[in-house]
Amino acid sequence: MAKIIHDLKACIGCGACTAICPANWQMGEDNKAHPAKTAVSGDELKCNQEAAQVCPVNCIKVE
Ligand code: SF4
Repeated sequence: MAKIIHDLKACIGCGACTAICPANWQMGEDNKAHPAKTAVSGDELKCNQEAAQVCPVNCIKVE
């Protein structure tokens, strides 16, 4: 299991993570992204790693 850590304060709400990994990332009413799950594995993990890679402010970490 990998852990998804999102620095909400640093998130600029660009939507890149929600575009590449809509299965786990959705925009909230605060216009910032929010992960549905914070513990993932397998195919779900890959999608979140891609989200971390495309985030322009590197506020998604996968551990
Ligand atoms: S890609 Fe990063 S900055 Fe953009 S909405 Fe997602 S978490 Fe926020």
